[in-house]
Amino acid sequence: MNSRLLTTHWHRLNKETVRQLQVVKLRRYLRDVVGPFSAYYRQVFQTRGLSAESFRTVEDLEQLPMTTKADLVSTPEHPQRARDFLLIPDERILTRRASTVIRALLHGRESVKRGFEREFRPIFMTSTTGRSADPVPFLYTLHDLDVLQDAGGRLMQVCNARTDFRLVNMFPYAPHLAFWQTHYASTAFGIFTVGTGGGKVLGTDGNLRLIQKIQPDVLIGMPTFLYHVLQFAVEEGMRCTNLKRLVLGGEKAAEGIRRKLRSLAAKLGSPEVDVLATYGFTEAKMAWAECPFPADGAPSGYHIYPDLGIVEIVDPKTGVVLGEGEPGEIVFTPLEARGSVVLRYRTGDLVEGGLVYGPCPHCGRTMPRLLGKISRSSEFKAMQLDKIKGTLVDFNQLETILDDASCVISWQLEIRKANDDPMELDELILHVRKNPDVSDEKVIRELNSRCLERIEIRANRIVFHDADEMVELLGIGRLIKEQKVVDNRPKTAAATTKSVSSAPVDSEVSTVTSDASSASNVEVKS
Ligand SMILES: [Zn+2]
Repeated sequence: MNSRLLTTHWHRLNKETVRQLQVVKLRRYLRDVVGPFSAYYRQVFQTRGLSAESFRTVEDLEQLPMTTKADLVSTPEHPQRARDFLLIPDERILTRRASTVIRALLHGRESVKRGFEREFRPIFMTSTTGRSADPVPFLYTLHDLDVLQDAGGRLMQVCNARTDFRLVNMFPYAPHLAFWQTHYASTAFGIFTVGTGGGKVLGTDGNLRLIQKIQPDVLIGMPTFLYHVLQFAVEEGMRCTNLKRLVLGGEKAAEGIRRKLRSLAAKLGSPEVDVLATYGFTEAKMAWAECPFPADGAPSGYHIYPDLGIVEIVDPKTGVVLGEGEPGEIVFTPLEARGSVVLRYRTGDLVEGGLVYGPCPHCGRTMPRLLGKISRSSEFKAMQLDKIKGTLVDFNQLETILDDASCVISWQLEIRKANDDPMELDELILHVRKNPDVSDEKVIRELNSRCLERIEIRANRIVFHDADEMVELLGIGRLIKEQKVVDNRPKTAAATTKSVSSAPVDSEVSTVTSDASSASNVEVKS
């Protein structure tokens, strides 16, 4: 079977065909691209006695070691670590290939040279956001930009976009995947797009002015920022009656925030809006989307392009590959990447419903889908926030509870030491801007009981803020990414992450303390 089919029929192949063709493509990719031109993987292959021919099924990928973010971060001894993963073509190997000779005969040497440059010369870069560690650069060649465009065009199709839509890209203008994936998706699909650059470039006002002027059909951006801008639009009494899609990326999108966004869109005069999430990461050099689903239904997962990469789901503890539909950690291997190439990249992201292959219940496409909630455990692990007072805190759950709470408009979690004493116990302080229709007491009661019920822990204090204070705390318009979790514990030898600064926060700003305020430590229900 011809592996071209994977590309021409990317949304129409069943599991068996996908996996059969993926391994054909993987073998060719390892033989012609990664094996000869990646110094890192050449060595891996040598030490493990592997060759491209060792991969007869997708399961054979397990012979390759996985790579984590930590393997890519530079250290004092190894200051350019990410460079190890860069493909550096060997001209002698390339010129000896039969395909090269034929191309040279047909189109001339100059054309062959240009082709190789297009394929292998890095000309573009995005990097990780560097909130939890130093940013890791990922390089793209023109070939990679073609792939980014293809992936983007498909993302638009999956979101059921139309070419007569107008789109406002509200991702921060930065060397991060989200902005550029959106940019290239728009050019590939041929849709009118304005990039505002997010809050830091134009501010909330600038974003609102553009939205009012353009009257877009689609807004795409980070959920926290989109929510912030729409909330302001509602407060300003704006109308925005064309909205059909709100597309979220850059952070996870809890059901609660989707519900809140839908309700804001309705208030602006757009009751029929699809709120869709995307999922992507720097190391994949692409993103995937959900397709539209009924308001009373559940999303059917992120639609994965089978020709551009292989997704595996592994047990986060043992690293063993799991079966279809089993929850676990997402691991990604590209099949088309040039520039920076990492095979079996461990994302640290956990997906609840695993990877499934059946036809999508909403759009009918048959392709691999990542189903259910994705939690980015890696971020919290890196921030060493996973333990408070020796108790494992499920921050993903905590975020979900806060996003879901209808009494809360925006929130920030702060972790600090009691009395700022490094020897003291950890304290969890919750900063919120509440829904004005709900009393302070009710907000406190509701949040405390939900937290105790679901994660057996509650905040030491709940501090109320007005809109401006919350904007300042979250860094909206000041930082690239809003700070929803802040670690203000004094640095100890154990805490290696950079200090996350925030505006000085103390309970005097607007003090309403919860009934837990008397406790000097985070209460844990036994
Ligand atoms: Zn679908």
